[in-house]
Formats: sequence, C-alpha cells, structure tokens
Amino acid sequence: MSDNDSELDTLDHGTMEFMRWLVCKDTNSGNSLITVKDYFDNKYVILYDNSIMNNVIVSYRDGLPLCVTCNTDDCGHVGFAICLKQNYDRDDHFVI
Ligand SMILES: [Zn+2]
Repeated sequence: MSDNDSELDTLDHGTMEFMRWLVCKDTNSGNSLITVKDYFDNKYVILYDNSIMNNVIVSYRDGLPLCVTCNTDDCGHVGFAICLKQNYDRDDHFVI
C-alpha cells in the first residue's frame, strides 16, 4: 500500500479502472473511481481520484509516466495514464 489511501495502488488496478472509465464514458453512467479533467498529449494528465477526493497529476516523461501526487511510477494513476495515452495515440477522434 502507498501512504495516500488511494484505492488505485497498483498498475493493474489502474488498467482495470481505465476499462471501467471507458464504459462509464460511453454509457454516461458514472461509477468509475477516476475522472479525467484535462489531458495534454505527451505532457501530463490531470485526473480526479474519487477514492481520495483529490486531483492527481501524472506527468508523461519521455514515455515513462510519473505520478506527481504519489511520487511513484507504479501506482494505479500511472496505469490509468498509460492506457489513456495508448487510447489517444490509437484514435485521432478521441474525446474526453
Ligand atoms: Zn498515483
């Protein structure tokens, strides 16, 4: 466990949460833990983590993302950010 009490404490958890977020986004029914607030390609992404009720910033450094909030590169926010970027790179019409 990290010391910030976020439920997203592993990369895998972040990946699963991303899948859930995609479904919530498409169906407009919200019970995902993460809300995407802002996305700057190849720079950083601002997420809202409902489990800690706080904004989380993940910075994309040369393809190796770092969660500024948790100060680690292997929390769930990083897993989520990696999936988000892959999704964005794959789809030019990607809309948050
Ligand atoms: Zn984090």
